[in-house]
Amino acid sequence: DKAVIFDIQRFSLHDGPGIRTTVFFKGCPLSCAWCQNPESRHYRPELIFYKESCIRCFACREHCPESAISDHSMLRFDPKLCTVCGQCVSECLTNSLRMIGKEWSTADLLEEIYKDIDFFIDSDGGITLSGGEPLLQANFLFQWLPMVKEKKIHTTIETCGLADWKQIEKLLPWLDIVFYDLKHMNDSIHKQFTGYGNARILENFSRLSRSQAGLQARMPVIPGINNSVENILATADFLKSNHQFCIHLLPYHNLGEAKLKRMYSRQRPMNIAALDSEQLKKTQELFEKEKIHAVLYD
Ligand code: SF4
Ligand code: SF4
Repeated sequence: DKAVIFDIQRFSLHDGPGIRTTVFFKGCPLSCAWCQNPESRHYRPELIFYKESCIRCFACREHCPESAISDHSMLRFDPKLCTVCGQCVSECLTNSLRMIGKEWSTADLLEEIYKDIDFFIDSDGGITLSGGEPLLQANFLFQWLPMVKEKKIHTTIETCGLADWKQIEKLLPWLDIVFYDLKHMNDSIHKQFTGYGNARILENFSRLSRSQAGLQARMPVIPGINNSVENILATADFLKSNHQFCIHLLPYHNLGEAKLKRMYSRQRPMNIAALDSEQLKKTQELFEKEKIHAVLYD
């Protein structure tokens, strides 16, 4: 099995303890309206066009074996013809075309993250599996995580929790920390903004809270969508009912909307304003009042 990875970021300080190397798995079962990594949504590799730097030299069009590139008022890439072969990317001298997503074997990915072993040892850090949704590539993880653990590397996963419980359970022996997103407590609002209801997500969270997993709840704070008093109180009640008393608050920023405009996505940017620090502080205070320790992220 190979994994499709769309990024590997080194020296991360926010994805778990110590210095971490974060591996971003491509593909996600949810389609959150506020997604900050829209390039992670589809499992397959994708082509992104940065029109700002394009000098219209048409080298890409000349070398496209599928005639997928045409020229109207600006370059157009026909997603029905494009096989994502990447030939145009290597022809573009201005780096205006980029391929998002690359296949990795278990051995190659292990070798790549092992380059950072000294940082992991010195800082009590490790790797973080992010995405997208890493659990969507569980078959790869079943093979790869035991190899990582054999090297005594600390492992953290960031998950939306929408996965088969049997798969989650099978991976737990290889995971030190599970960062688990709670996006909305109302099932129909959850479905409206992410494409899925929250029943299985909440059920998996409760199961995890009863296991030996190092579970840590997180909430992406999206202004006007999930930072209402009602939702914060419902989230706090849910956490307490599962004997969880801490949540990490991740403020929404709108970088994903700019990325979305460059991609061939049917999803349109929602133009959600970035969260201001006052709104975030209020969310934190409400959780604290409910006896849930709320940690703010940048
Ligand atoms: S090769 Fe690059 S710069 Fe030239 S037309 Fe294509 S995208 Fe634009
Ligand atoms: S990725 Fe390949 S098929 Fe797609 S536009 Fe570029 S050269 Fe053409």
